[in-house]
Amino acid sequence: MSQATGRRASPGYQERTASEVLDALGSSRHGLTTSEAQGRLAEHGPNELRRPHRTSVLRKFAGQFTDLFAVLLLSAAVITFAAYLLSDPPDIGNLQLTIAILAVVLINAVIGFMQEHMAERTAEALQAMVPHRARVIREDERVEVSVAELVPGDLVVIDAGDAISADCRLIEAHELTVNNMALTGESAPARRHTEPVPVNVARLEAQNLVWMGTAAASGTGKAVVVATGQDTEFGRIYQLTAGTSTDSSPLRRQIAMMAHRVAAAAFSLGVLLFTVRLAAEGPLVETFIFALGVMVALVPEGLPATMSVALAIGVRRMAKRHALIKKLLAVETLGSTTVICTDKTGTLTKAEMTVQALWASGNVHRVTGAGYEPKGDAEDPEPVRDMLRVAALCCDARLLPPADHQGWRVLGDTTEGALLVAAGKAGIDLDAERQAAPRVGELPFDSVRKLMTTVHAKDGRTWAYVKGAPQELLARCTHIRFGDTLSILDDEQRSAVLKANDDMAGSALRVLAVAVREVSKAAADHEEAEHGLILLGLVGMLDPPRPEVVAAVKACREAGIRIVMATGDYALTAEAIARRVGILRPGMVPRTVTGIELDQMSKEELRTLLGEYEHVLFARVKPEHKMRVVSAFKDLGEIVAVTGDGANDAPALKRADIGVAMGESGTDVAREASVMVLLDDSFASIAAAVELGRSVYQNIRKFLIYVFSSNVGELVPILAATFLGFPHVPISAVQVLAIDLGTDVLPALALGAEKPEPGVMRQPPRNPKQSLFSGALVRRILFLGGIEAVVATGIFFWHVTSAVIPFAEFTEDNPIYREALTMAHLAIIMSQVFVGLAVRSDRISIFRLGLLSNPHYLVAQAIGLILMAGICYLPPLQDVFNTKALSFTDWLLVLALSSLVLVADEIRKAVLNRKEATR
Ligand code: ATP
Repeated sequence: MSQATGRRASPGYQERTASEVLDALGSSRHGLTTSEAQGRLAEHGPNELRRPHRTSVLRKFAGQFTDLFAVLLLSAAVITFAAYLLSDPPDIGNLQLTIAILAVVLINAVIGFMQEHMAERTAEALQAMVPHRARVIREDERVEVSVAELVPGDLVVIDAGDAISADCRLIEAHELTVNNMALTGESAPARRHTEPVPVNVARLEAQNLVWMGTAAASGTGKAVVVATGQDTEFGRIYQLTAGTSTDSSPLRRQIAMMAHRVAAAAFSLGVLLFTVRLAAEGPLVETFIFALGVMVALVPEGLPATMSVALAIGVRRMAKRHALIKKLLAVETLGSTTVICTDKTGTLTKAEMTVQALWASGNVHRVTGAGYEPKGDAEDPEPVRDMLRVAALCCDARLLPPADHQGWRVLGDTTEGALLVAAGKAGIDLDAERQAAPRVGELPFDSVRKLMTTVHAKDGRTWAYVKGAPQELLARCTHIRFGDTLSILDDEQRSAVLKANDDMAGSALRVLAVAVREVSKAAADHEEAEHGLILLGLVGMLDPPRPEVVAAVKACREAGIRIVMATGDYALTAEAIARRVGILRPGMVPRTVTGIELDQMSKEELRTLLGEYEHVLFARVKPEHKMRVVSAFKDLGEIVAVTGDGANDAPALKRADIGVAMGESGTDVAREASVMVLLDDSFASIAAAVELGRSVYQNIRKFLIYVFSSNVGELVPILAATFLGFPHVPISAVQVLAIDLGTDVLPALALGAEKPEPGVMRQPPRNPKQSLFSGALVRRILFLGGIEAVVATGIFFWHVTSAVIPFAEFTEDNPIYREALTMAHLAIIMSQVFVGLAVRSDRISIFRLGLLSNPHYLVAQAIGLILMAGICYLPPLQDVFNTKALSFTDWLLVLALSSLVLVADEIRKAVLNRKEATR
């Protein structure tokens, strides 16, 4: 075990034979023992990459002060402070303003910092939820362990699509190719074998080594781990480079850009008003502070934070519904999905296969029993026994007996699991059969050939055992076995086999054909082993639909989302399942397109077909066909979500708007290529994620309208004062800040966390081209914010005119002015309470939605009103805000007028709904 403790995959592994390497690592072809593995884990530590130093907390916090908002506000603080120093006698109001602005900058920085931290933590937590498992051989048994538990000397099993989780030396390879892109930048898959490689070949190029961070592109193999964790080649590079980039989603960037634009507009308007007022001979400092008020009134200070929180909440909710989103942007795209292109096996169905029927020698034999428990019988098993023996020996899966409160389970492909169970039911002793016909070679399954072959030595002869999709296999058969007689597979026989296949497929069974032939040597190639075969029969297995999928399919249909099944399986099986889950309703005839047909279709023809037929079903397709379907839909302007699990699904997953990988059954490569991972593999989780995606988008709209409405409500009174020649502001900069960063923040967050509105899934998908800041959004802001502005301006001027003195005679500390200032502030805060209720839905009346149905919102507003009461009645706050105590009637009056905005919006909703109903 001396070499195992060596730091990295030391030179010396590539030029030695596999057995020598195993010896050097103190391992063997039977794998390590569990106790040895535990010992090594303690010695080497977990197979994980330590995160390099992240940006220090202090630096991250300091970074918050360098964004545009902060810089603008800090300059404003410097100017107000200078104004305070220069005024004679010192104007304490300016000092208060300086302090208020600094406080705002600080609060903003804290919020920004926490938001960044939260986003990072969410990303890390999600990362940890994606399963990272490896199959290893320990004590001669194939087991699954967490990748972190791999130790030097472990024997790992590699299948196409697997991520390589440690540096390893191959000891077995069947048609194995790896993609070393992550390490070498070379994207073409490279062949791997087990023979020694001369020392002068660069280690990364050595064909018998595979590296952590790379992936198996095709084939299968076994390899012994030579280095783990930080000791791997990848670990070394990771230390040098990782931890530098932070991902910011386009949506977040879009919001940040919008915020900056608004800030720039606010700044320009402030400068303009400053110049105008100054030209009209306003006093310098006052004019400046006035302009500052305009500026801060327009800038939505709390917005970026609210935005990130809303997205993070969306991502967490989706995780709870078994959909992990890897990019925040996907949350938004999901909501506008128009087409879901889905696999069948495992996504629409449970992938719990049970063999129910066998066909051999022209007869059907029923098999009883359910699940993977080898309990049940095969009817008249004699004629099917050899077929089941061949099929079961041509399997990599293992049947696991009940343990840890779980019943019988399958490790590996469930299709194969079903074959093992059926063999057991037919009374076949598989251990004895494996010994009698040991496996000496294999051609792994891939979804392009749709076949798998194993080569066995039996009684001094060598045999290829082949199983696969019936049509594909039948095309390679020349003979058929009837009992003990061998006949030529003529046309009549072929149609008999096809009919048996169709009968099984028509009742939703997944059918596999089984064949054999004698070959010349163990290392037989495809040409020899998979041609001129003797057909033994067919196996039909039931893969029941997932019960939750029926409702999910219905929900998607109501949401205007088209569901297109693209499966490697046979058309009839696919159609039968499509009917069972409701993709096809009774009487609907789908346009079924097979992979072969698709090959002959041009791009344009495919596009026309997709446009022409509503119900298209793709069967017997290869992964690259999925890519073509996705591209065609995208060309038609659709937003496509596509599911995938295999390594060669990666291109389609990447090309789609939303690549959806399977968390349970999917390969690492597919997971890497996708933006969403389904923890439970179920189609229903996609539907749930779409619903949540839609609601997140709606929520973002809600709080955008909410936040900007108050900005309109703040700005209009200020502009009105300018035009009416009132010498002071109707709402001061400090008050505006208290609203934007105080009372508005919590309600906005509560709106961002709203549950999906009833009926979100009954609307058609959103037009993806329509930007978040659409005309409709602006109109809604102007409508609600406009009413709020009229109310606030009206109340202010109604109150100041009640003093019956000319505007010019008002001083800053005039009690009527201070009352009016307080009432305007209160009017905005109260109007916002009603605006928030109005925006909770675009169409549905708040009374139908339930006034109390978002308690967080109500609590947030209650806190705001308590703060307002403090500003109104507490002397120190009165000093800061230049406010004055209001009477109870004043509160009532403001309350009544503020509620107008909700009344107006309810009328709008009622009119709209009535119009819709009559239409
Ligand atoms: P979907 O694409 O909807 O998940 P699928 O699982 O049937 O469908 P593939 O995995 O590409 O798609 O399989 C295609 C066909 O290959 C299957 O219909 C089956 O006939 C055959 N097949 C599947 N698994 C095996 C296997 N382990 N050995 C041999 N043939 C197989």
